[in-house]
Amino acid sequence: MVSGLPLLQTSENAGRSHGRNGARNASRASFVGAINPILETLVRLSSTTVRSTLVTIAALTGGSSLSAQKADPYLARAKAVLQSTPLVDGHNDLPWRIREDTLHANDVEAYDLRKRAPGMTDLARLQQGMVGAQFWSVYIPGEQDASDYKPNGKVSSKPGYARVQLEQIQLARRIIAKYPERLAFASTEADVRRAFANKKVGSLLGMEGGHAIENSLEALRAYYDLGARYMTLTHNVTLDWADAALDTARHGGLTPFGREVVREMNRLGMLVDLSHVSAGVMSNALDVTAAPVIFSHSASRDMVGHLRNVPDSILRRLPANGGVVMVPFVTSFVSKAVFDDDNEIARIDADIRKRLPGDTVAQRREFNAWRAAHPRPTATLAQVADHIEHVRKVASVDNVGIGSDFDGITENVVGLEDVSKFPMLFAELARRGWSDADLRKLAGENVLRALKRAEVVSVKLKRERPASIARIEQLDRRPVP
Ligand SMILES: [Zn+2]
Repeated sequence: MVSGLPLLQTSENAGRSHGRNGARNASRASFVGAINPILETLVRLSSTTVRSTLVTIAALTGGSSLSAQKADPYLARAKAVLQSTPLVDGHNDLPWRIREDTLHANDVEAYDLRKRAPGMTDLARLQQGMVGAQFWSVYIPGEQDASDYKPNGKVSSKPGYARVQLEQIQLARRIIAKYPERLAFASTEADVRRAFANKKVGSLLGMEGGHAIENSLEALRAYYDLGARYMTLTHNVTLDWADAALDTARHGGLTPFGREVVREMNRLGMLVDLSHVSAGVMSNALDVTAAPVIFSHSASRDMVGHLRNVPDSILRRLPANGGVVMVPFVTSFVSKAVFDDDNEIARIDADIRKRLPGDTVAQRREFNAWRAAHPRPTATLAQVADHIEHVRKVASVDNVGIGSDFDGITENVVGLEDVSKFPMLFAELARRGWSDADLRKLAGENVLRALKRAEVVSVKLKRERPASIARIEQLDRRPVP
């Protein structure tokens, strides 16, 4: 997911560093020019020095922190809840993390989850984090010029979204199959509960970006058959039939074909994921859908104004729909200070490049001086809990879940550094007065209810109508570029 910009361009903030108005390449170049060196340093620090420091600290303080945990009644309650209710995380980018691994790209065998993995996810830490089920993201880039699509350019003028999507589904399924002692492929609510009863992580697949269907409902159905149980309607790039949150709004929401995609997902029993889409698409999808929607990794826009977050006006519609906002651990979504800092970086960068055209050495020196005087703020576990409580307050306790985005992010929320940390978040909410029943809903009962409902709706709709053979050329009445 981190293609090009080490710190800023994750799957999440790629759109941000690309600018909100779709001026992607121009603003990408600006970041590379002035900021890349310091970002690379930061990433090196975070991936090696910081990690080994943390390991050392953990080794030194292991005993005392363990007894502190034992003494914390809220953590004990959190663990008891997660022992008896599956924690279903909405978004983990491990498949893309493995595809992009610097040492062994694409190599499921070499990226050994039985050992301490270089990323945020491995078997031991999943167990420590009491993860009960996981929507493994089979993310693919939305940008047509992404290097993953280049090999396809030799045989076709199209980017090859479907090829890369098939590769990622296959890669994810090979990960799941490789660890039968801990992971169990799941495609239904019942599968998840069965896996949990067998002490395995129910492993669902979630697609990220409707570009993967290449405007074909037949392709959508094929992905369902391969196991995809949600599809985020867009990633960061606006499609022929849906506007993305971080790109130009070309349609004012969903086109008629976009609405047909939602209806066909309902018929199949694939959850409609509204993370990454514009607020107009959120509205349209809620108008059309016959099943609950999810937001696999989005926080509150009224708390942090990031366009990837969900406005209160949409949150208020969720009780009627039965949908679930799964709050992520993305620093710029949950911390206003980090979000503001990202915007400030963009402003400073543009200013420095304007004042020192072409002189990358001086640009770097100025940026480093600014950064030294204005340290990067951090995001905290408490802020993640604040977003969860906001969704609960504006929607309801039935409409909130967790969608970490681990291995799709390069900057951590303090206290939620990897998949081993989930219980700490539940302990924080218990401390704030959440009942066990509330914590169960947040952990997995809400999203499992939504998935089950989607299955029931699918059975009904399959009785009522055949597979849609609608085509975008017919429904949207214009040639597709
Ligand atoms: Zn994402």
